[in-house]
Amino acid sequence: MSEQNFNNNKQPVDSSDRKSGENSLERIKNMSSDELINKYFKSTYQPPDIRKARKRYREEIEVHYDFTIPENVRNIGENRKFLIQTYGCQMNEHDSEVMAGILTEMGYTAANSEEEADVILLNTCAIRENAENKVFGQIGHLKQLKREKPDLILGVCGCMSQQETVVNRILEKHQHVDLIFGTHNIHRLPELIQEAMFAKASVVEVWSKEGDIFENLPKARQGNIKAWVNIMYGCDKFCTYCIVPMTRGKERSRRPEDIIQEVRHLAAEGYQEITLLGQNVNSYGKDFEDIEYRFGDLLNDIHKIDIPRVRFMTPHPRDFDDHAIEVLAKGGNLLDHIHLPVQSGSNEILRRMNRKYTRESYLELVRKIKEAIPNVTLTTDIIVGFPNETDEQFEETMTLVEEVGFESAYTFIYSPREGTPAAARKDETPMEVKRERLQRLNELVNKQAAESMQQYEGQTVKVLVEGESKRDPNVLSGYTEKNKVVNFKGPKSAIGKIIPVKITEAKTWSLDGKMVEKSIGVNS
Ligand code: SAM
Ligand code: SF4
Repeated sequence: MSEQNFNNNKQPVDSSDRKSGENSLERIKNMSSDELINKYFKSTYQPPDIRKARKRYREEIEVHYDFTIPENVRNIGENRKFLIQTYGCQMNEHDSEVMAGILTEMGYTAANSEEEADVILLNTCAIRENAENKVFGQIGHLKQLKREKPDLILGVCGCMSQQETVVNRILEKHQHVDLIFGTHNIHRLPELIQEAMFAKASVVEVWSKEGDIFENLPKARQGNIKAWVNIMYGCDKFCTYCIVPMTRGKERSRRPEDIIQEVRHLAAEGYQEITLLGQNVNSYGKDFEDIEYRFGDLLNDIHKIDIPRVRFMTPHPRDFDDHAIEVLAKGGNLLDHIHLPVQSGSNEILRRMNRKYTRESYLELVRKIKEAIPNVTLTTDIIVGFPNETDEQFEETMTLVEEVGFESAYTFIYSPREGTPAAARKDETPMEVKRERLQRLNELVNKQAAESMQQYEGQTVKVLVEGESKRDPNVLSGYTEKNKVVNFKGPKSAIGKIIPVKITEAKTWSLDGKMVEKSIGVNS
């Protein structure tokens, strides 16, 4: 069967039409495809527009506490299965947990394979081109399955669906996709699934509104040891290379009482570790108009909750204030590992990236952190090959990596993203040069990582045991407070607990150890 055959009625449906009560399918049948594309983009979707995005601050944010699954779709998933494939960052991982929670409340159960699934959602990432390519590869791969199983609902959501070019490409070339929805529409999943089930057309709902906060969405968390906790959404930093402020909307903070209640519940349920999530966690609270409550205050309140480990991702160097450092220095459940993305060591590149800090101010922040938390571990994100980065500018990144002593780093080659200011610049640096720089940087990072691991040999560390090692089911695997992987032999009853392990051998990215019954002077 050809693609046209099983999709010959497919045209994009602006699902917000349905709310008007009109028979949108009838209306859509009478429209030309140009009319359709125009209509749905004009009414529901704005392509990334940095000038417009920068003017969005005054839009009011509403917090909703009234999410319910509509009566008529509550059991729609009975005897049906779902699969969510997640690409990208922790934010996406957590959004997938929310979607899994909603689908579970609709009666669906989790599928173990694509073949078993009645609904497959691809929760996508737009941060770099190769992330997008992977998703398009997967959409292509699923075409055969959709042919064999026409009732399968195939949905694309997450950051890619916030981009006009992506939505167009899917509508034009991948008509086996039934549903496209954006990052601000997750709470509409029950209605969208229902529409996709009954519509003969692709259902598209990408709201351009910057997004409210939906508090009581159900969550089906991955595991019961570690949990993600959103503290804020969106980003207002507008780094010139980054698509996130356009795909995730403006910065908006959850109310402290809602976050604290969620953390208390997780503690009561026995979770051992939480990670506070936001694109820019130390901008937390800037948008509150009625209270003066910032990231340091939130950390201070969470510090008092009886949950063993608290991490956070990601802080921005510019907003890292003294109060947050002071609170982090209290230790306890606030771990002494800080991931502090620097992106570049060159002031000129930082200026062109719109990072709004300098090499010197970053190093000063590092000095303050190290002074307050002497045993701190620092890790980072770095982009090489930003348009027209010179050899000298790249060398400044290398020296900064050494000077700070990062113990690990996520390193990336700059990837132009449509709609961002950096993508409009002509870039004279050849890709080959960028690849060489990335390789040199990675060698340096690996060397520092290996050196940092050496100090643990012979020491006893606290390990949160997460499960069996992927390579060997007889070996258990977990993480130290500083996020180092430890592999050791031990009983399955240790899974989910924090236990002392003596390190016998340090490798570049992991430690081998031996479980100790009792230990004195446990290090992290
Ligand atoms: N908000 C965090 C911050 O500013 O540090 C990071 C969020 S972003 C999802 C994760 C990382 O992706 C960034 O720190 C940056 O290094 C990288 N990144 C973002 N846009 C990129 C691009 N266009 N090309 C290459 N890497 C990019
Ligand atoms: Fe992107 Fe992070 Fe910059 Fe925001 S702060 S624009 S998420 S890199």
